[in-house]
Parts: sequence; C-alpha cells; structure tokens
Amino acid sequence: MNKIQIAGKEFEILLENDQISKRTRLIAIQIDVDYESRCPVFIGVLNGGFIFMADLLKEINVSCEVGFIKVSSYVGTESTGKVKEIFGLPGDLHNRDVIVVEDIVDTGLTLSYILTEIHKQNPSSVTVCTLLLKPDALTTKIEELEYVGFEIANEFVVGYGLDYDGLGRNLKDVYRAKTVVIP
Ligand code: 5GP
Repeated sequence: MNKIQIAGKEFEILLENDQISKRTRLIAIQIDVDYESRCPVFIGVLNGGFIFMADLLKEINVSCEVGFIKVSSYVGTESTGKVKEIFGLPGDLHNRDVIVVEDIVDTGLTLSYILTEIHKQNPSSVTVCTLLLKPDALTTKIEELEYVGFEIANEFVVGYGLDYDGLGRNLKDVYRAKTVVIP
C-alpha cells in the first residue's frame, strides 16, 4: 500500500519493511562486532521503539541484557517549561556497556535527557542506536549516536512503532505525512 489514511490524515510510503529489515541486520552485525566478548545492556525507549527493539534484538548474537524505559514529559508549574521523567531505568548500570535503542531522534532533547540520567550511574560506555534520525531537526550534538538506520527529512512519520494520534504503530512500513500542495 503506497498511500494510507490515519485519523483523516494522508500518509505515503517512505520505508518498506524489507528495507528496514535489511538495514537492521547490518546494524546488528556491526553491534555484534563492536561488542564482542562484552555483555551490553540494551535499553529500549517506549512506546515507539518496541518494534525496532524486538527486530534488532532477534539479530543480535552477543550475550546481552534487555530492558525498556518510558519517558514522560509534563509542563512545569513555573518557568521550567517541559520537565521530563524516566520510568524503569535500571539502577545498576555502573561499569556496564549501555546501548540505548530509539525509534526516532528529532530535536534530540528527549535523548539528551535520557543520556544525562544514564551517565549519572558511571557506565563503562554508552552508545545510541536509532532507526530514524532527522539531522535537520537536531538542536544538540549527541556524541553517543553511533548506529543510525536511516536519515530522513524533517517531516512527520508514522508506522513500525511510531504513531499518529495513538494510531498506526502496528503498520509494517514507515509512512510520511503527505504535504499539502497549495495551488
Ligand atoms: P525529540 O526529543 O528528539 O524531539 O523527540 C523524540 C520523540 O518525539 C520520539 O521518541 C517520538 O516519540 C517523537 N517524534 C519525533 N518525531 C516524530 C515523528 O516524525 N513521528 C512520530 N510518530 N513521533 C515523532
């Protein structure tokens, strides 16, 4: 299906599942090489990252541990603006090799916050593996960004774990919002 509608909004195909699977296998091979004889802790970021995390982990052969975190943001009462909170972060990351698995990095603010919290535990190493990256939207440099599936334009995408208004996470492929052409 090249075009779909979700909650009245039109989307068109951007990445087919087959492309995603091939790229995921290559990333997994790279991670296997980089982490040979180590036992990394993979930390998936919910909700969007659940499908990529599962597909990636099925291709990983090194011995590893797996966990998930969820980041919530709420508006602060004073001038703090958006305050974020992480749920489920393991407390025993000291001296561990951590790999954070994300669905998409947009501005990078969520990821920066997650990384700051992880570094507080003095892990041996921290890297990030993201399926999608919007380089033009990044507002902060993220040194840990080691494994990137696809760089995409600064547009809204849905499917393969990512939602639009809570819907579309179950789609096998990734779709982008159709831009409205003004005549
Ligand atoms: P950031 O903090 O990098 O700006 O945003 C990260 C989060 O915003 C992602 O984990 C994801 O939940 C959401 N997000 C950013 N861009 C998109 C997008 O194009 N589509 C969807 N569905 N979510 C997005």
